[in-house]
Amino acid sequence: MSWPGVIHAYLPYLPFAADTPIITLNEGNTPLIRADRLAEAIAPKAGLQLYLKYEGLNPTGSFKDRGMTAAITQAVAEGAKTVICASTGNTAASAAAYAARAGLRCLVLVPEGKIALGKLAASLAYGAEVISIAGSFDDGLNLVCEIVRRQPIALVNSINPWRLEGQKTAAFEICDQLGGRAPDWHCLPVGNAGNISAYWLGYRQYGKGLPRLLGGQASGAAPIVLGRVVEKPETLATAIRIGNPARWQQALAALDESGGIITAVSDDDILQSWRLLARLEGVFVEPASATGLAALKQQIALGEIDPVGKTAVCVLTGHGLKDPATAVAHANPPHTLPADITALEAYLQR
Ligand SMILES: *Cc1c(COP(=O)(O)O)cnc(C)c1O
Repeated sequence: MSWPGVIHAYLPYLPFAADTPIITLNEGNTPLIRADRLAEAIAPKAGLQLYLKYEGLNPTGSFKDRGMTAAITQAVAEGAKTVICASTGNTAASAAAYAARAGLRCLVLVPEGKIALGKLAASLAYGAEVISIAGSFDDGLNLVCEIVRRQPIALVNSINPWRLEGQKTAAFEICDQLGGRAPDWHCLPVGNAGNISAYWLGYRQYGKGLPRLLGGQASGAAPIVLGRVVEKPETLATAIRIGNPARWQQALAALDESGGIITAVSDDDILQSWRLLARLEGVFVEPASATGLAALKQQIALGEIDPVGKTAVCVLTGHGLKDPATAVAHANPPHTLPADITALEAYLQR
């Protein structure tokens, strides 16, 4: 593997000319972390080889950077001066960073009051024009699709095919990191369904074997599981608070071709898996990122997935610092003591 950045590393697998100027922040090359304590917790004595693909370690803290290097590189190649997206937050932060690097104007539409603090802070810091709309992510996506039909602006949501081209590189990395093979199960959260579609493209193209896909949706925002649009999606996992996924049909095809499963997990299940990741393995993610693990845990408990001797990868899509408010709200508050050795010793011996 050579770096910097996913386009450079996997250029023969991507539809870019070798001389295209690449806009990159050296994204990708994220760790695949073996998680033995977690494997034992969700499948005792099964010999499950569980791995965590820690996508929160990308430059802006989510996997969106893989797709954004490709989308912004292509936008610049086509002469765009302005880019736009609708976002639950991570796409906004990523678009803002890559647009800054390319010297483009960047507009992001976010659902009012439903964007996690770290995502808002980053989007503003990178200099994006953040437009808070009184509506959902789905309303925002409809608006940006309409504006790009009227104005010469590039759309960088995952309906832009270049996003998927960049994101599929994570499947290549996983195969490389597992020594040239795909896992048995590939587990991830599903929101707009761009990522699950991109992984499937990647596994098929790379030719190192195919996993079965396990997609997790939050039960309050589970249109693909229910088979119908959810008008008012609700979940504390704001990154997947989406009621009408743009890549719905493509995700269904990927699930079908892989012999996969899509399932809904409650917010409590998501929080429980989020806690397990941090406490058993020292990996802090934003809540949505724990949904793939929650789905795996659920399917093993239901007997739908046999973990014995299997390899499973859970994609951890975003960093825990993205959403500090939810993290603090669902943890025990800190202890308060006087600044005094007796008090500290007494506390220790409780
Ligand atoms: C975008 C995002 C998702 C959902 O990915 P889709 O491609 O929309 O299905 C999940 N988790 C995090 C942290 C995200 O930012």
